[in-house]
Amino acid sequence: MTENNDHHDSDKDSGEKVAPMAEALEGLKAFADGFATTFKHLFRKPITEQYPEYKRPLPERTRARIILTRDPDGGERCVACYLCSAVCPVSCISMQSAEREDGRRYADWFRINFGRCIYCGLCEEACPTSAIQLTPDFEMCNKEILSLVYEKEDLLVDHGGKDREYNFYQYAGVVTDVGDKGAHIQEEKPVNVKSNMP
Ligand code: SF4
Ligand code: SF4
Repeated sequence: MTENNDHHDSDKDSGEKVAPMAEALEGLKAFADGFATTFKHLFRKPITEQYPEYKRPLPERTRARIILTRDPDGGERCVACYLCSAVCPVSCISMQSAEREDGRRYADWFRINFGRCIYCGLCEEACPTSAIQLTPDFEMCNKEILSLVYEKEDLLVDHGGKDREYNFYQYAGVVTDVGDKGAHIQEEKPVNVKSNMP
């Protein structure tokens, strides 16, 4: 019994000795890895970009200046649904909806206060028509805070931005000159709501 206990004690002792040794080795390896990285960079050519002479091309998904885009047929995509305005965490989007004679909605006026915008991209996520989009153009700083209030004419562009092919009114399930309800792309025929009655 005593012999067994002695055996266990010696196992425990050796285990306690191994743990600090493993930790020390791990520490040394971390040091070596760190110095190796520093060493590698000693012989690399420095990457210094002379902005604004050189402007690095930014990815299309970069979140900066906001635009309002158009359908491929040239129509305004924005249907003034207020979703972007509702989702905006800093409440910097405002607008007034209006309706054309053919029933198509649009924004009579549309305003973004870039002095408050935090470029989170939530408005773009919420937009059902792909109208509002963030672009890589970040060079819009100005000391005149009021000049950062952009009206519809400052925001509306004559292209589809990142979503060039999408045409909301061909998918929307409304009566348009593209077709009746149920005739649009991937759209099911309207149901008879009375048939769902219990
Ligand atoms: S990017 Fe964010 S903060 Fe700016 S307008 Fe859109 S939702 Fe508002
Ligand atoms: S930009 Fe999009 S989300 Fe905002 S009001 Fe127009 S359609 Fe709706």
